[in-house]
Amino acid sequence: MTIKLEKVVNKFYDGLEEGKILGRKCPQCGHVEFPPVYACNSCGSYETEWYEIDGAAMVKTLVLPAPLSSKPEYKNLGKFAYGEVELKEGTTLNAVIRGVSRKNKAELAAKLPLPCHAAIFQREGGFKTVVFDLDE
Ligand SMILES: [Zn+2]
Repeated sequence: MTIKLEKVVNKFYDGLEEGKILGRKCPQCGHVEFPPVYACNSCGSYETEWYEIDGAAMVKTLVLPAPLSSKPEYKNLGKFAYGEVELKEGTTLNAVIRGVSRKNKAELAAKLPLPCHAAIFQREGGFKTVVFDLDE
């Protein structure tokens, strides 16, 4: 199981290097796992398949990071918040939302849910990761 999990993680990061954002789709029930995990959390099937997510999503909540919690690997990320994001495929996850600051957070929060889309972000000295940008 550990080996399979490592393969899933490696394939996910390889995909990001190629500009693809990959999840796993369950052929049994159609549920999409993102970030990818091997088994389907909806029906328990282990036969999930690679699936490139559309990237379109809705932000449902926004939470500003605590002032002292700045992570060094996010140094070049700019202003951001954490948010609950629902992918077009129906999967909900907690993600980093770029472009949200103390200045515009209240205004944006009043308009939730807001459309957004996935983007690939190069972390300082590390792996690429997936963040979300607001569409407007
Ligand atoms: Zn399933």
